[in-house]
Amino acid sequence: MKGNNRRIALVSVHGDPAVEIGKEEAGGQNVYVRSVGEALSKQGWQVDMFTRKADASQPAIVEHNSHCRTIRLKAGPEEFIPRDNIFSFAPRFVSEFLKFQDVTGVKYPIVHTNYWISSWVGMQLKKCQSIKQVHTYHSLGAIKYQSLSTIPMIAKTRLFFEKAVLETADCVVATSPQERNHLQDLVSTKGYVDIIPCGTDIRNFGSIGKEKARQVLKIAADEKVVLFVGRFDPRKGIETLVRALAACKIRRQAKLKLIIGGGWREGESDGFERERIDGIVKELGLGEITIFPGRLGREDLPIYYAAADVCVVPSYYEPFGLVTIEAMACGTPVIGSDVGGLQYTIIPEKTGLLCPPKDEKAFADALDRILSNPDFAKKLGQTARLRVETTFSWDGVAKQLNDLYCLMLDSPGVKMGPVSA
Ligand code: UDP
Repeated sequence: MKGNNRRIALVSVHGDPAVEIGKEEAGGQNVYVRSVGEALSKQGWQVDMFTRKADASQPAIVEHNSHCRTIRLKAGPEEFIPRDNIFSFAPRFVSEFLKFQDVTGVKYPIVHTNYWISSWVGMQLKKCQSIKQVHTYHSLGAIKYQSLSTIPMIAKTRLFFEKAVLETADCVVATSPQERNHLQDLVSTKGYVDIIPCGTDIRNFGSIGKEKARQVLKIAADEKVVLFVGRFDPRKGIETLVRALAACKIRRQAKLKLIIGGGWREGESDGFERERIDGIVKELGLGEITIFPGRLGREDLPIYYAAADVCVVPSYYEPFGLVTIEAMACGTPVIGSDVGGLQYTIIPEKTGLLCPPKDEKAFADALDRILSNPDFAKKLGQTARLRVETTFSWDGVAKQLNDLYCLMLDSPGVKMGPVSA
């Protein structure tokens, strides 16, 4: 498929693929879209990634390479808007997209939309031009709302369009068998679903060994390092990790260090969550052993993962969880909540351990098991790396996406497999 010069539009209205990752609402979706775009461009696609311009100082176009760029469309005020408030600007986004096509003379035969707001954009485009739509949910309202005490006003609209896109898109890409089952059980039995996981860069993640990583971070060989990486969002369950660490037995026998990596902004929702977590850390007497290094860049992340004895992903809900496969690619075992995509990426007792979400006691026991048994931890980490190499490398994942798009474009009459396949 190299050199096919085919065009594809990736649409990610609220997740800008060109921004810094690890701050408010910039996480897995941004990384996914950027990684898919860059990987496809290497396979011969001309990739344009469309997002909403959320800051007046941002350039309208960012070239990642000569075949892949981010295009920021003006839709609503040029400032950060929480994703639950963005939908009213989606019609403007569609008209700006159509204007861009008219002005540049570029027509996209295929659009891959990301998250439900972008799914609506794709559904509108299908009404006015001949275009195939592939959709990835990234998060499902039907599951997310089960773990929230306050349901946002937009919920009804979101659930409606999540069903509509499943029934009308040419193909939905679920990132795990668990997500495919959720779609069928909770959203609709109609529709065409293919399972293609998220990927990770196995050259970057895994590029440094534990000893060297600890030298760089000035962490002694005898310290037991527990790592969290992600956004400060209550759904990420950082509180469960902190309480589990305070309760684990090994705390009395070994020198522990807790690293909570991720960016935040004062006065914004992630800043409030960071403050709340810091309060719990201090209340439980963990202040001395806990560090908040802030946002970790792509070049820092492999060092932190490699230096850690264990990475913990204690989310209440996790559609896929890129952090899990990044840590695994670095040979670090993962303790995750027994939910969503983590049930797919983590093989219990082989690449890590799964615990019921919010169950501090279970997480404490899992920490004790891994931290007190370095041979077990090492074996888990080695198998984890192998699992990522075989199943979650970007090269393999991008090839599967490439094949899917080509099948759709080359065989217009072909229907993808049914959701229950
Ligand atoms: N991330 C990062 N720097 C940080 C915190 C997070 O680059 O300080 C990245 C992390 O490496 C991962 C993504 O943000 O690639 C988070 O994706 P995940 O699917 O784990 O969670 P989401 O943010 O989508 O809920």
